[in-house]
Amino acid sequence: MGNVIAIDGPAGAGKSTIARRLAERLRYTYIDTGAMYRSVALWALRQSVSLDDAYRLNQLAVAADFELLSQGQVMLNGEDVSEAIRTPEVSAAASKIAAVGGVRTALVSKQREIAEQRNVVMEGRDIGTVVFPEARIKIFLDADPEERVRRRAADQPDVAPGDLAAQISERDARDRQRVESPLVQAPDASYLNSTGLTEEEVVEEILRIVRSRISNGKEH
Ligand code: C5P
Repeated sequence: MGNVIAIDGPAGAGKSTIARRLAERLRYTYIDTGAMYRSVALWALRQSVSLDDAYRLNQLAVAADFELLSQGQVMLNGEDVSEAIRTPEVSAAASKIAAVGGVRTALVSKQREIAEQRNVVMEGRDIGTVVFPEARIKIFLDADPEERVRRRAADQPDVAPGDLAAQISERDARDRQRVESPLVQAPDASYLNSTGLTEEEVVEEILRIVRSRISNGKEH
């Protein structure tokens, strides 16, 4: 297996931007696992599969063919769904289907497969706890709630800030409270609150953690 840098944290903490920049600096492959949950949710919505139908959702997750391209584009079954998966409707549906155990099992196994042959910066909710509990570098990236809403508002200017705040807190509560792989900090993860820091500062801080862990000679 390649080296894994696991980055977990709530929505809007800056995981995607930071993980992508970090991957560029280290020449690792960047993997956005949220895009996989979003893609399965999009497929389910398009097929009118009920978000409570665990059996059919599991089938979709097993059958989904993903390609995550280095610039962040997401291909689902050969179609570029990069934009289609970023709507508020898909965000909400993704966090619902992510509570289904069979969906998680299917996606986790695809995530492990991706890291078999290469070094990755992988971001999500359960990377350091479930997907790669043995990863040597784990970051729990957080930010204050107002900051998280502000960041999402910059990505989604058409949604009213009040609505965004409600959507984020509802999704976070669901992600933290679910039974299967809830969003929690791994005991051996470094906690980093990015509020008030620039992207460059956060990346530098993570690189510092990477260097200190490696020089401590800790194994995988
Ligand atoms: O990271 P992003 O906000 O794009 O993820 C969308 C949803 O997918 C999250 O709200 C969460 O419910 C789910 N997810 C997950 N486990 C991951 C990544 C994302 O449950 N590793």
